[in-house]
Amino acid sequence: MSRHPIPTPTDRLPFLDLKTPHRELSTEILAVWERILHEASFVGGPEVEGFEKEFAAFASAQHAVGVASGTAALRLALLALGLKPGDEVILPAHTFIATAEAVTQAGGRPVLVDVDGTSGTLAPERVEEAITPRSRVLLPVHLYGQPADMDPLCEIARRHGLRVLEDAAQAHGAEYHGRRAGSLADAAAFSFYPGKNLGACGEAGAVTTGDPEVAERVRQLRDHGQQRKYHHACEGTNSRLDALQAAALRIKLRHVETWNRQRRHTADLYRSGLASCDITLPQELADRRHVYHLYVVRHSDRDALQHGLDEAGISTGLHYPIPLHLQPAYSDLGHRAGDFPRAEHWASTGLSLPMFPGMSEAQVERVCHHVAALLA
Ligand SMILES: *Cc1c(COP(=O)(O)O)cnc(C)c1O
Repeated sequence: MSRHPIPTPTDRLPFLDLKTPHRELSTEILAVWERILHEASFVGGPEVEGFEKEFAAFASAQHAVGVASGTAALRLALLALGLKPGDEVILPAHTFIATAEAVTQAGGRPVLVDVDGTSGTLAPERVEEAITPRSRVLLPVHLYGQPADMDPLCEIARRHGLRVLEDAAQAHGAEYHGRRAGSLADAAAFSFYPGKNLGACGEAGAVTTGDPEVAERVRQLRDHGQQRKYHHACEGTNSRLDALQAAALRIKLRHVETWNRQRRHTADLYRSGLASCDITLPQELADRRHVYHLYVVRHSDRDALQHGLDEAGISTGLHYPIPLHLQPAYSDLGHRAGDFPRAEHWASTGLSLPMFPGMSEAQVERVCHHVAALLA
């Protein structure tokens, strides 16, 4: 790969710019926060309820229940869907570890399945062979903002009597056959970690569902199993959404559509700018709306490409360099290298290029220029 002069640090192109959108919204956010401070109503209350209504509408879901994080949303949704100790949950081998952690923490057993070679999401044709009498929930991930292939997955689940939970932590506003992520299965879990397409100013998450009983169970579980104060129907946990986060999320929710359109525009620019490069670009499918939480390209010499871009002052990321079945944390699942070849391929070839709302055309051109030069 060819070499380029190292630019000064001020030239550095970040992987993600979180500062600009927060600078633009800070007056508005601080005004609501000041009112909340004044009222000293920090947990629950009108801001949380308002956000839940607005986020449910955004996700085309009947109900949204705010919780403390995306991981908590997954865990509480699994419990609300009836997961019992020892039940198996089928999930992709290529995802962020939280997808599997939530299963274990809910008392379940993660059963890993390979992903699709082109979309990187749970491969429907691999699911059926993983189903056993203990299988309870199918947990596809809308990875990088691309919805999983939900129709065949839901059809398999229906045939085998499984519930389906979407891990929509990276897919706020994504669509499958014109339907929103968050409304495609029995329930969905969203994360509002700051770097997500909709991010809080701290930690937060939500469960969406069309099932009023599932919503009610998550409401109880997030608040110590309470139906009313000090009356505990079951043992729950403390996983409530706080008012400061809800208030910031309500303000930011009004911009997510614009931000997603900007992400998709950036993806269009990358697609044309990198068209002649010997590199695999993210798939844009006619039946899905990808919201590009991440823009992940693939190349066999990914490490050299990342190094070359770093020297050119361009920050990139790896999502995720080691698939779950090869993580020491899951050695007890008894897998080894070669078990999920497509997950391993994604892990060893994927490179996340800079992607954030408000990224300028010049910034995209700069990335394309250096990728092309490095691959020439
Ligand atoms: C971020 C993320 C989570 C966890 O969300 P947190 O809010 O960080 O707990 C779960 N699954 C996926 C795919 C994620 O990207």
